[in-house]
Amino acid sequence: MVGGADGEGIWGECDPNEPRNQRTRSSIVVEAESGKRLLVDSGPDLRTQLLRAKIGVVHSVLYTHEHADHVAGLDELRAINRMLDAPLPLYATDAVMKELAARYSYAFRPWSGNGFFRPVPEPHLVSLTDRVRVCDLDLELFEQRHNRIPTIGLRCGDFAYSTDVEHLSEEALACLDGVKTWIVGCFQYEPHIAHAWVDLVIEWCKRLKPERTILTHMGPALDYEALRRVLPEGIEPGYDGMVLSL
Ligand SMILES: [Zn+2]
Ligand SMILES: [Zn+2]
Repeated sequence: MVGGADGEGIWGECDPNEPRNQRTRSSIVVEAESGKRLLVDSGPDLRTQLLRAKIGVVHSVLYTHEHADHVAGLDELRAINRMLDAPLPLYATDAVMKELAARYSYAFRPWSGNGFFRPVPEPHLVSLTDRVRVCDLDLELFEQRHNRIPTIGLRCGDFAYSTDVEHLSEEALACLDGVKTWIVGCFQYEPHIAHAWVDLVIEWCKRLKPERTILTHMGPALDYEALRRVLPEGIEPGYDGMVLSL
């Protein structure tokens, strides 16, 4: 986090010399066999993330929720418009799309069809529990609780992504049943009102039994190496730039 007495950042329990502790805001790209790429959330670090991962283009964006750490890179999508030479399909719930249109009103104005001097979205509404085919991927969406707001969890075949969640209903757990690879948000060791914590994720994993669970959206209390050592087999901390083949 920005800050610290000497301006070198607030690292909490994290070893600043461990490169896997250098975290940007949470986001993933899911690439289909066809090469089509779905970006899940456009956080404020999007530009750096895409350049670092050598991802020059994505074909759609799905928003899990409206918090700034998941949407504040929306302006960077202009570069994607230019690569596609077309408006970029954005998928979100009605509530989230309204919030995006209010915060980025200039982006949601009608497009002249002439160049991309601002991001140009093509809005697509989804419900929290939709099934949609996006970027040649069959997605099953499920509702998660994130303190006062709902967030979208998504399942695609044996894979699922659940960021920003502190409670999973029976319906959500049923949707996750049989998942083999699960990326799940986990903020700290202690309970938190808006994010899952280490023991809660372990409880969920006892029920769901994924082969591989990867923690994301970790806070400064979670040092990569210290956490890796205490997690049960099958659960591991993620890190920026991590690539999974499914
Ligand atoms: Zn959030
Ligand atoms: Zn978040």
